[in-house]
Amino acid sequence: MLGEPDLNPSLQRYRNPRGALTLLALLGGLVAVATGCEEPLPVGPPEGNHPPFDGGDAYALVERQVAFGPRVPGRSGHAAQLAWMLARLDSTGLTVTADTFETPVSSGDTLRLTNVLVRVRPDLEDRVLLLAHWDTRPRSDQAQDPADRVLPVPGANDGASGTAVLLVLAEIMAQEPPSVGVDLLWVDGEDYGPGAEDMFLGSERYAAGFDPAEGPTRGLLLDMVGDRDPAFPVEAYSAERAPGVVAAIWGLAEELGLGDIVLDRLGPAVRDDHLPLNEAGLPTANLIDFSYGPGHAWWHTPEDTPDKVAAETLEVVGSLVAEWVYRGATVGG
Ligand SMILES: [Zn+2]
Repeated sequence: MLGEPDLNPSLQRYRNPRGALTLLALLGGLVAVATGCEEPLPVGPPEGNHPPFDGGDAYALVERQVAFGPRVPGRSGHAAQLAWMLARLDSTGLTVTADTFETPVSSGDTLRLTNVLVRVRPDLEDRVLLLAHWDTRPRSDQAQDPADRVLPVPGANDGASGTAVLLVLAEIMAQEPPSVGVDLLWVDGEDYGPGAEDMFLGSERYAAGFDPAEGPTRGLLLDMVGDRDPAFPVEAYSAERAPGVVAAIWGLAEELGLGDIVLDRLGPAVRDDHLPLNEAGLPTANLIDFSYGPGHAWWHTPEDTPDKVAAETLEVVGSLVAEWVYRGATVGG
């Protein structure tokens, strides 16, 4: 993903340095609860009647992915991870589709990419899309030391975290089918780059085939959801383009006592996989922690390793999304 902090001047005026209640009130007219909950963890008993989300399980899947090596298109770690994901998902008994396609990039190369889609409760018309990217960036262009910039990013947080949360959610939904249809999508080629023209390749592919009359009606992207020092302000494109999803997710977080982590204030605008989907008519919010490491130091560097990721953070995010889904994934506003 790419940061673009000066996106939309009309939203800037809602920035509130106190992290207060302006934004949710603006988005959905929700009754906001005072910030500063003292016991953000654990999430508490599930109300939607689903198996609990275990952050330790998700963390083990982060380590497993990083151990494959860089999941860069064309490299062995990419192929190994794809085979592993497909085998895991097949074993759940859910219906799995692998959409493999080739796409040219600016370098003149052609990438072979695969989006993986699982449709939970395909019998239901009312559907929500949950997505994450499973590829990792070929180069550490944000590394401090120029010599490190040719190294691939390990992608513990940037790639593996969202992927792990969705894999655990797939297992939960296979055990206990939700009352809403869920499309789980692992997109490829999000982080190839270096520039935006060679990013979001898998989500653009999905968006090109998206039919608003038949597809899901709301979506949630999970990206960089494992930082051991988490902070999830409202991503600014999401506030503008998917306000109903933002109101639902951030409002639910407040209700669950997660307001210290899932913050009711406007954060940076981040160009990411949700943009092609919003463009295609699918309102999709991005749950992203773009403040990764001290002073944002670990993003797109060789430091993006599993020790920077925490099971507790993955559990907060996974539990929040599970709770939303098992309550019907309704939107606010
Ligand atoms: Zn990235």
